[in-house]
Amino acid sequence: MSSPARIAIGVSACLLGQHVRYDGGHKADAIVTARLGSHWDLVPICPELAVGLGVPRPPIQLRQSVDGKTRAVGIYDEQLDPSESLLGLGHRLGHQLQHLCGYVFKARSPSCGLYTVPVTRADGTVLENGMGLYARGFLERRPGMPVEEEGNLNVPQRYENFIERICFYRRWLDLTTKGMPRSGALVTFHTRHKFQFLAHDQAGYRELGRWIAQLGGRWHKDFDPNEYLVLAMGTLSVSPSAGNHVNSLQHLLGFFKTSRSQQERNELTRKFEAYGSGIGSLLPLLDELRAWAARDRQDYVAEQSYLNPTLAERDLRVWR
Ligand code: SF4
Repeated sequence: MSSPARIAIGVSACLLGQHVRYDGGHKADAIVTARLGSHWDLVPICPELAVGLGVPRPPIQLRQSVDGKTRAVGIYDEQLDPSESLLGLGHRLGHQLQHLCGYVFKARSPSCGLYTVPVTRADGTVLENGMGLYARGFLERRPGMPVEEEGNLNVPQRYENFIERICFYRRWLDLTTKGMPRSGALVTFHTRHKFQFLAHDQAGYRELGRWIAQLGGRWHKDFDPNEYLVLAMGTLSVSPSAGNHVNSLQHLLGFFKTSRSQQERNELTRKFEAYGSGIGSLLPLLDELRAWAARDRQDYVAEQSYLNPTLAERDLRVWR
């Protein structure tokens, strides 16, 4: 199920050690450069440089204007207002850089930050947390795209979740970049991810199933495939528990009732239970089931994304 071309992800350029910050400095991040960079192509983008603010440049911050809108203005010079340029650049690049499968944004930046960028009043007091204007524009064009701030990648569950969503998104782009998929192709895509969804969130899987069921074997112009993508990403955003993994494994084992002896299945069940109680790791169990599926010609099982983690996914702590 993996695609041969390398995955590319966008990265705030300062996180890659480029001297593009307002003061000429950088914020090189080892997880981004070493870990993500060992698997994927990293595409550096500095929006403030791209809209012509230069280096060094006067610093900007998010400010709530009198009409209630959030703008990016100079901290020391309110006449400096690149808000429209940053938002417009986000829209443009979100549309143009269709090959990007994810994006790591610099936290707290008025251009790049995702979650906790301070939005101030005119008197300088902090009103609330907002999103950088470039990041907002980009995401308005790419709903469902996996994004994260660099600081959150230090949290193992967040890191692993980000990796898995990027690999999923890559397969989604493979399905959709040539145009809207036919309903049959979308159903096949969904079916191949069944046990991955179940390992993350059973309620999310059921919701996705209802969305697919309304297709009714026909494709309708009113169906927006991005609705499916957003639901799928929400499901994958839930961290899988060991219990959910064991549940998915047991379900898959059920496909070997006729081709494998009771003794073989009991042995594997014991390994699943050991994993569920904290002994051993998941990856050898996935590999063993995939080998069974290949030998027993169980194509439905063999093609499950759950049993075919990419190299980047095989590197994850939770599966080792
Ligand atoms: Fe450039 Fe964004 Fe880094 Fe600021 S946070 S220096 S705008 S890449």
